[in-house]
Amino acid sequence: MLDIATIRKDFPILNRKVNGNPLVYFDNAATSQTPKQVIDTIVDYYSRYNANIHRGVHALAQEATEAYEGGRKKIQQFFNAAHAHEIIFTSGTTHSINLVANGFTAFVGKGDEILVSAMEHHSNIVPWQMLCERTGAVLKVIPMDQDGVLVMEEYENLLSDKTKLVVCNHVSNALGTINPIEEIIPMAHEVGAAVLVDGAQSSPHLKVDVQRLDVDFYTASAHKLYGPTGIGMLYGKQEWLKKLPPYQGGGEMIAEVTFAKTTYADLPYKFEAGTPNICGGIAFGAAIDYLNSIGLEAIDRYEHELLAYATEKLSRIEGMQFYGKAKQKTAVISFNIRGVHPYDMGTLLDKMGIAVRTGHHCAQPVMDFFQIPGTIRASFSFYNTKEEIDRFAEALERARQMLV
Ligand code: PMP
Repeated sequence: MLDIATIRKDFPILNRKVNGNPLVYFDNAATSQTPKQVIDTIVDYYSRYNANIHRGVHALAQEATEAYEGGRKKIQQFFNAAHAHEIIFTSGTTHSINLVANGFTAFVGKGDEILVSAMEHHSNIVPWQMLCERTGAVLKVIPMDQDGVLVMEEYENLLSDKTKLVVCNHVSNALGTINPIEEIIPMAHEVGAAVLVDGAQSSPHLKVDVQRLDVDFYTASAHKLYGPTGIGMLYGKQEWLKKLPPYQGGGEMIAEVTFAKTTYADLPYKFEAGTPNICGGIAFGAAIDYLNSIGLEAIDRYEHELLAYATEKLSRIEGMQFYGKAKQKTAVISFNIRGVHPYDMGTLLDKMGIAVRTGHHCAQPVMDFFQIPGTIRASFSFYNTKEEIDRFAEALERARQMLV
C-alpha cells in the first residue's frame, strides 16, 4: 500500500493554489510533476559540480562525467538494456524518433513500407512522413476500432516483405490504450521489419524490459517520468545503433577529424553531438531512483484503483461520452460531455483549480477517427487521490450546468 499523504509531501507544487483553490493536477500525461529529490539533484549539480563532461581532467569535470554516466546506467537498468551504450541521451521522445527516422534514410527506398498505428502522437507520424518524402517509401496505417484498440488482423494483412519498419506507441496518450507490443514486435520481425516503440506514455506506468520484448528501438521522455524537461532517451539494439548513421555532427561524436575525413566515436557518443544536457541526464537518473523507491507495480495498482473510481464517478454525469474503451489501459480518461466544447470545460475547471488537458492531444488522426474536435483528458498519477477525483466530478457537474 502506498502512503499517498507522505508521497505528496515530496511534490512541493501540489501545495499551491490556482485561482484561489488547491491545485488538482490531472495533466500527468502531458508532463508529470517533479519530486524534491529530483529538484535537489538539480540544485546540487549547479551548486557543487557544474562542468563540461568527458574531456576535462579537473575534479568538477570528472564528478559531472561520473554522475551523467551514472544516470545512463540507471536508465539502462530501468529498461533492462543489455548495455549502457545502448541508451542514447536525447532531448525527449520527439528527438529520439527523429534520430531513428533520419538514420533510416540509409535503409529504406522507393516502394518500401513503414507501418504506423492509427493512434499515434504527431511525433510518431511526421518524422516517418518526412522519411517517406525523402526516400519514396510508403506510410501505411494499422487501423483501430471504435474502442480505440488496434485491429490485429489488419496489421497481419499489412505485413509483407516490403515492410521495413513498424512504429507504434506502447500506450496512446489520447486514449490510454495499452497496445499489444508483445505480439506486434515478433510479427514484424517475422517479415524482417524493425520495430520502434514510443514509450513516452508507458514508461511512467509499466515495467518495460527491452530485452524480453526484443524491441529494436524504444523511447522515453524524462518529464513524463518525474524528471525535468529537455532530456529523454532512445534505447536501440547495439547492432542497429552501430549500423545507423549519426544524426548530428559536431564535438563529442567524433573519433578523429581531418579536413579529408572524419571517423565517428563509439556508441553512445556517436549520437550525442555537442555539450549534452548534463544536469538533465543526472536528474533523469534521480527520477528513476525516485520511481524505483515507490515501485512500478505498486504505482500501477494504485493508478488503476484511481482509474476505476474516476470512471465510475464520471459515468454518472449526464451526456458523458468516453473515448478509448480498451480493456488494457493506463489511468487516462478521455471524454466529452454532450453540448460542451472541451475548451470551455477546461477553462471553467481551471477557474476551480483543476488542471486537465483539452484539445487534440497532438493526435489529430485519433480525433478525426471519432469525428470530434478534441476531448477533455484527465490523466492520473500515484500522487493523486480519490478526494481529488470527487472534487473533479463535482466541478464537472457544476461546469456542465453552466455550459449546457
Ligand atoms: N509520444 C507520445 C505518446 C506522447 O504522449 C508524447 C508527449 N505528449 C510524445 C510522443 C512526445 O514527447 P516529447 O514532447 O517529450 O518529445
